[in-house]
Amino acid sequence: MRLISLSVLLLSISVAHAQKSYLIDWDAVGEESVQHLVELIQIDTSNPPGSETEVATYLQEMLAKEGIDSATYALDEARANLVARIKGNGSKRPILIMGHTDVVGVQPEKWYADPFSGLRQDGFVYGRGSLDDKDSVAAGLMVMKLLKRYGVELDRDIIFLAESGEEGTPEVGINFMVEKHFDVIDAEYCLAEGGQNVLEDNVVTRVGIETTEKMPRRVTLVARGKASHGSVPTLQNAVAILASAVAKAGSWETDVRFNETTRAYFSRLAEISDEQDAYRFNNVENADESDAIQQHFLENFPYHYSISRTSVVPTVIDAGFRKNVIPSEASAILDIRMLPDESVEEFYAKLAAVIDDSRVEIVPERIYRPAAPPSQIDNEMFQTLERVAKEMYPSATVLPIMSTGATDMAQVRAKGMQSYGIGAARSIEEMNSGFGAHGDNERISEDAYVEFVEYLWNVVIEIAATE
Ligand SMILES: [Zn+2]
Repeated sequence: MRLISLSVLLLSISVAHAQKSYLIDWDAVGEESVQHLVELIQIDTSNPPGSETEVATYLQEMLAKEGIDSATYALDEARANLVARIKGNGSKRPILIMGHTDVVGVQPEKWYADPFSGLRQDGFVYGRGSLDDKDSVAAGLMVMKLLKRYGVELDRDIIFLAESGEEGTPEVGINFMVEKHFDVIDAEYCLAEGGQNVLEDNVVTRVGIETTEKMPRRVTLVARGKASHGSVPTLQNAVAILASAVAKAGSWETDVRFNETTRAYFSRLAEISDEQDAYRFNNVENADESDAIQQHFLENFPYHYSISRTSVVPTVIDAGFRKNVIPSEASAILDIRMLPDESVEEFYAKLAAVIDDSRVEIVPERIYRPAAPPSQIDNEMFQTLERVAKEMYPSATVLPIMSTGATDMAQVRAKGMQSYGIGAARSIEEMNSGFGAHGDNERISEDAYVEFVEYLWNVVIEIAATE
């Protein structure tokens, strides 16, 4: 469904910014956008191995047809990144639109249809990458095409980056671009994946904009004891040492702490919640209530628990090889997601104190996503994202969001770019269906996707077009 008619939208935008209206036929452009999404899904870029150069080549052709030059940058020839730029007059700094071209792998036997067919059915486009993140890539491509097609005069350059390797191998993608080619993507603002818009009864009620994310800082716990016969209990049993350490780490109540994003998130959420929840959201920092509120979050809404703290979650245990042998060594992985301002070394020291056993070594994983402060919620970009959201979805509440997961925005935020995650709306039923990012039968609503393209376009016009 088109949630708001073209004429109403144009009217509302033209009232506020009369000079910035473009008469776009969103039915035709929407179909063109869906076609690009389908064709991108049909290029299998499961990572590993990725093979993202095929997508870069596709994008290069599509941009060239519209008369837009682009260039590729590759650390690995099979895994190229693509950059295109539409020049503005230079009076303001550029905007970077970013989407990653790789996808996670699939178990095809669990899908209704070929995950790389781009099947269109019942108003959805199915396929790996439909939500993560070929929708962002296709939307970025469409906005570039429209800017060129309409000859939009710009104050800011608009840069499109389709980057490889986001799903676990950023060294070929965003890290390569940031370290070796930052000059071609440097911008004041970045727009990328990670938005969370909620559709209730066909109306968008929440527009979630990702302004920050937790930092993955996993560790392996290695417990060491002495190998011996299973018939004789000892105090040097690596399995028992490890189990005790994992139990302590997994039940550790880490410090509760908030930042500008999570404070605004809870206070805005309180405004649209029932009385009891509103009380909780308004009292997250009330020391007398904190324990009870956090316990309620843990039991009923673990996402809220996670964004209130650095989280420690045991995910893998590897111990023992024979039922009558006490092994000398056992290990476990803790998936630790730190708040953006957490001191990594201090946190590991606290973890060691919680485990309190010198036979357990804490081995940190290599850091591949840098820390960065949350992007601001009072600058021109956030205000524009908010204003356009209100224009398109008058009954929606705009929520700044801290993602518990990680994206390539971490790397550009660390370079000082104010970065915001946006995306297509999903219904509550759809979110509970399991057809989400990384799931089987990943799919996106065609209408919600086209509205996302429209939203991105409106935001770019509002913040970058010359008045
Ligand atoms: Zn993604």
